[in-house]
Amino acid sequence: MSTVNESPAGSSKALRVSQSRQSRSAFPLAGTGDGLVDAAGVLSRTIGGALAARGVRGPLPIGAPADVLAKAAEMLGPATLREHGIGTDAALQHVAQLLLEHGIHLAHPHAAAHLQPPPLAVAVAADVLVSAENGSQDTYDSGPAGIAVERWVVSALAKLAGLGEHATGVFTPGGSLSNMMALLLARDAAAAKHGINVRKDGVAGLPRPVILCSELAHFSVHRACATLGLGEASVIGVPADEQHRMHPDALAPILRELGPSATPVCIFATAGTTDFGSIDPLPVLAKIAHRHGAWFHVDAAYGFGALFSERLAGKLAGIELAHSITVDMHKIGWQPAAASMLLVRDANLFLPLERSVDYLNPPDDARAGYDGLLGRSLQTTRRADAVKVATTLLAYGRQGLGAMVDACHDLARYAEQSIASHPQLELVSPANLTTVVFRYRGNTAPWALDDLNADLRRTLLTSGTALIGRTSVCLEGRDAASSTCLKFTLLNPNSTPADIDGLIDAVVACGQQRETAFRIRGEIGGA
Ligand SMILES: *Cc1c(COP(=O)(O)O)cnc(C)c1O
Repeated sequence: MSTVNESPAGSSKALRVSQSRQSRSAFPLAGTGDGLVDAAGVLSRTIGGALAARGVRGPLPIGAPADVLAKAAEMLGPATLREHGIGTDAALQHVAQLLLEHGIHLAHPHAAAHLQPPPLAVAVAADVLVSAENGSQDTYDSGPAGIAVERWVVSALAKLAGLGEHATGVFTPGGSLSNMMALLLARDAAAAKHGINVRKDGVAGLPRPVILCSELAHFSVHRACATLGLGEASVIGVPADEQHRMHPDALAPILRELGPSATPVCIFATAGTTDFGSIDPLPVLAKIAHRHGAWFHVDAAYGFGALFSERLAGKLAGIELAHSITVDMHKIGWQPAAASMLLVRDANLFLPLERSVDYLNPPDDARAGYDGLLGRSLQTTRRADAVKVATTLLAYGRQGLGAMVDACHDLARYAEQSIASHPQLELVSPANLTTVVFRYRGNTAPWALDDLNADLRRTLLTSGTALIGRTSVCLEGRDAASSTCLKFTLLNPNSTPADIDGLIDAVVACGQQRETAFRIRGEIGGA
């Protein structure tokens, strides 16, 4: 390469600069290429070897939690900062090994515990680019591309939900935070109607604020209300019907009983409950919210992905009536966390979050267009999480994502049928989206089933062979106390019915083994 010829003749300074660009930097930076290319080489070699090793391991490492955690920590050596580093290649290899040996393997077909998908390769690759660029979403001069991409993604998904041309949104670190922001906007809107400026004066003047959600709504509603000064007591859990949806006839009488002294801040609907995938009756709830002048929020952290599927999209009818929607693309969306969004039907709804900060977005800069997304978020520095989502939407389109949703829904329906016809198992809740809830029954007396199912799951986890979820459910016709149940959350679109058979076999074999152990210890009765 003729760098010398490209420089003005005799310019020794230019020569020095171009030479230093060609050699390895003292401190390799991702944004200049050299460091990242080297690191990618280490990763591809390590991952290549590790993937072969993964063929022989299950979704979790084998062992009791304390032992697994101790072994993982041991790989780092004593918990003190070393005086001299081991070098970037060695450090990367070491940490890759640590994660592969002691981490979770979500692409394993028997990983079925949580709404935590195996991420798509294209999304992970895009996320590396985002980290390398390290732009921030708060101001124009912190990263213009990311701002444009975020606006594009939230518009595209808001349109998919039917929120209309003026809809927009913001990325957040998770569904819990998206729900909190929705409740913040709802709180401030309700207060404004009472002439209260919450930002300045707090919530004390707001007459008895209430948030009405299904009794099965996500616990982040309670946390958000505690954080927002509304108090957890402001959350009213409306009874759910036998299909785990907010009972459509239960809400109106509760509101009537509360009377005019209470402020209905928000009707908070869930589209896809975490355990059952059940969807509240959105059109009915929207109408009631409208009648009471309350904000209508739809927590579709889990269920939003149904909109990608032609077969399932109809289940979300009414979502287009929401003031705001929570979306978690790190659930049905196959993104690495975090990829959550709060969509709103009008950009003006974000006004309570507006801020002008001298060193970030002073008014004259903002007027001249040198502005970012600071005024939509509670964060300042904020990753461009939208980029991996945009890349995925570009790569697969609605149909590509819909095919993945349908594949997981098919798996859940297959699991539902297999469980329902299995003599040792009891189906508790059918497959609404991609989850199935059930119990191991075996030959055990009902009073011992809670302990048996909990023990069964822990045994599976320490065996490392199958990773399944648990929850508790009020079973019909039993006493009011809830029962411990098992759950499959199926988010691996490459899994097959044979994988589900294997998962069910593992559960039943483990159940029988634990039943025997319980019986020997005399902790069990016959059915
Ligand atoms: C997962 C979930 C949340 C919380 O989302 P995070 O991203 O885990 O914070 C909220 N609501 C529902 C219905 C969920 O399933």
